[in-house]
Amino acid sequence: MRLVTTFAEVRRQRRGVVGLVPTMGFFHEGHLSLMKAARADCDTVLVSLFVNPLQFGAGEDLDRYPRDLERDQGLAVAAGVDVLFAPPLEEMYPRTPATAVTVAALSAGLCGPARPGHFSGVATVVAKLLGGLQPQRAYFGRKDAQQLAVIRRLVADLSLPVEVVGCPIIREEDGLALSSRNIYLGGDGRTAAAVLWRALSAAAAGVEGGERRGAALKELVATRVAQQAEARLEYAELVDAEDVEPLEHLDRASFFALAAHVDGVRLIDNVHFWMNEDGRVKSELGVRLDGPSILYGER
Ligand code: AMP
Repeated sequence: MRLVTTFAEVRRQRRGVVGLVPTMGFFHEGHLSLMKAARADCDTVLVSLFVNPLQFGAGEDLDRYPRDLERDQGLAVAAGVDVLFAPPLEEMYPRTPATAVTVAALSAGLCGPARPGHFSGVATVVAKLLGGLQPQRAYFGRKDAQQLAVIRRLVADLSLPVEVVGCPIIREEDGLALSSRNIYLGGDGRTAAAVLWRALSAAAAGVEGGERRGAALKELVATRVAQQAEARLEYAELVDAEDVEPLEHLDRASFFALAAHVDGVRLIDNVHFWMNEDGRVKSELGVRLDGPSILYGER
């Protein structure tokens, strides 16, 4: 594996079908699952590692965001990555960018109000990575479902020649979705954080039991989260998977997303729903590290 710090050098390393996995580093099994997915269907697996200041708001955790390049290099080698692109700030933004990419409608709901400018920062850096590295495929986790919708729309609106591949959420044994930010959780907070998974599982069980009303699912989730004193719900909403608009009824591809503050740490999570051709709903909660199979139900 090569560690590369410039766009020009990455382009020299490209061979065959190139799959890009954009990350902010401090790898965990969620990141590794994207690298493995890319390894399975691309000739060159390219991972970018850049803690992008544009997507952090004032007072967010840019300065203390976890970083460990040496460890990440070892994990990337083990995952079969060909090129790890870790540009310094001056390579990524030699000048303050005068161009910003904003996918306005899809950025307004869910995390939008709490993180103004966040999705524009994400869309701008992803557009830059896609333009500068020119992968044929790009891999993103459904953990960040709103982000994935924003990127799909950006690629469609700007006719970028890349296939966006969404991958399932990877979870700890107790259901907590892996996240680089989980290290901010103390012992009690870490235990309490599993309530997000329990709440989303309750929503999936509700859907499997025939519930289709967005408001009823929200009620189910809010009740579950309220049972955990350390957790404070920021939002919980059923939305259309493509345009991220709130849904009154689950009648199409969608996801139920929530954000909650646990022990002072802001966590996000979701469960995805798809309609089968016969009208039944399939729910996908992701993959647990201790279980081989994807966690989903059907009804
Ligand atoms: P980040 O480094 O947090 O910006 O994440 C880089 C990529 O990894 C994004 O596409 C995320 O959606 C994805 N990702 C983060 N956590 C998980 C997870 N638990 N399961 C699957 N993908 C994830």
